[in-house]
Amino acid sequence: MRLVERSFHESQYTMSRTSFPYYIPHQRELSREELRLLDFLLPRVDCIKTRATDLKVVGRCGCGKCPTILFGKSLDDHPIPSAGVVASWSGRADNGTLVGILLSERDGFPTELEAVSEDGGEIRSWPPIDEIR
Ligand SMILES: [Zn+2]
Repeated sequence: MRLVERSFHESQYTMSRTSFPYYIPHQRELSREELRLLDFLLPRVDCIKTRATDLKVVGRCGCGKCPTILFGKSLDDHPIPSAGVVASWSGRADNGTLVGILLSERDGFPTELEAVSEDGGEIRSWPPIDEIR
């Protein structure tokens, strides 16, 4: 049974990696929730020299569903994918999914805040700040 389960998950993984792009261009200001979250997370990472209020959203995850966002300094900037994860957290979202939060950066600038499912559950939102460890 375990083998069947594993190959099922592997095929799901392969599907999800190939059926959508890394990111979708998506330009907007940060939402109030994203600002609060980044205000909480960014000061905890030594190498980050940018404040949440200086960030714009310039891309979102290619799946089009999860809250993963990519940052620029202005709305005209292009996303910088796969820059390098410098910090990670974990917390349970309101729908019960254990959500990993990965922060990537380049030269002190946050490039991406990525949500990953740690228990296979669907990701619809960031965990509440008081759930984040
Ligand atoms: Zn996604």
